[in-house]
Amino acid sequence: MRRATAQLAGPAGKGPEPQAPLPAGLYVTATPIGNLGDLTLRARDILGRVDLVLAEDTRVTAKLLAAYGLKPRVERYDDHADDSRTEQVLARIAAGGRVALVSDAGTPLVSDPGYRLVKAAVEQGLLVTPVPGPSAALAALSISGLPTDRFLFAGFPPPKSVARRAFFEELAPVRATLVFYESGPRLSDSLADMAAVLGPRPAMMARELTKLYETAVRGALPDLAADPRCQSPKGEIVVVVGPGETRAASAADADQALREALERESPAAAAAEVAKALGLSRRDLYRRALELKGAA
Ligand code: SAM
Repeated sequence: MRRATAQLAGPAGKGPEPQAPLPAGLYVTATPIGNLGDLTLRARDILGRVDLVLAEDTRVTAKLLAAYGLKPRVERYDDHADDSRTEQVLARIAAGGRVALVSDAGTPLVSDPGYRLVKAAVEQGLLVTPVPGPSAALAALSISGLPTDRFLFAGFPPPKSVARRAFFEELAPVRATLVFYESGPRLSDSLADMAAVLGPRPAMMARELTKLYETAVRGALPDLAADPRCQSPKGEIVVVVGPGETRAASAADADQALREALERESPAAAAAEVAKALGLSRRDLYRRALELKGAA
């Protein structure tokens, strides 16, 4: 069983010097989402030193490597690769090979191939290490102006409206900012379904991030759905949707909850239960519970 952690080449003082031998392993390497300048120094170093680069599309990766004057061996690998291909890659690493996994853009495995390979490599105890960098989801989230403390990446919504609405219904109760990938031709239908299911939540449509025609359109979901810039735009798109409003509990909500609780328990216990559920003052609720009990 191989050691599953290693210190890797990095800036001075943060690990072995860049030219220290690269340990055998799988290097899950992020590449730019548009702007070639976004390849990290470390990604460039690793891609120049591995024995093999596994690419989603070898032509796309060849262009990136050529732009940096890198000439590693490149082979195709995607999630349709059969088990024998995966085993072959793992055997190569187990025998001392250094293999980088890249996708066409951004971080591998984020709506991109690689899950089966990484899972199998982890199960075999091989070194699997990230070479982090761009991802469209985080790039969009970071400029959305929407809450970033809790977010849920939901990938591509289903292409057909019925399944898509069911998908959004499932996400509606989630108290977090939602991040979706979408294609230009489907954007307006998808936004219309989001607006119908999620309501007028604040949102952002980000297009062609880091590229020449980078665009961000912000507004409530129904406004985005109607915005001419969101009607079948060209290019690659991320939609970020803010969490639903948590409606402050009204006095009527509190009374109803207290009445129900008082049927089961004492005023003190009912006040404690409702205070926790609705985020209201326990002391005020206790006073109210006594009033309701007296009126009953
Ligand atoms: N693994 C990639 C990542 O980490 O971002 C995502 C791959 S997924 C197959 C491609 C989708 O990501 C596109 O359809 C689009 O939704 C989004 N995307 C990729 N690059 C983008 C960009 N420059 N601007 C906006 N969205 C982008």
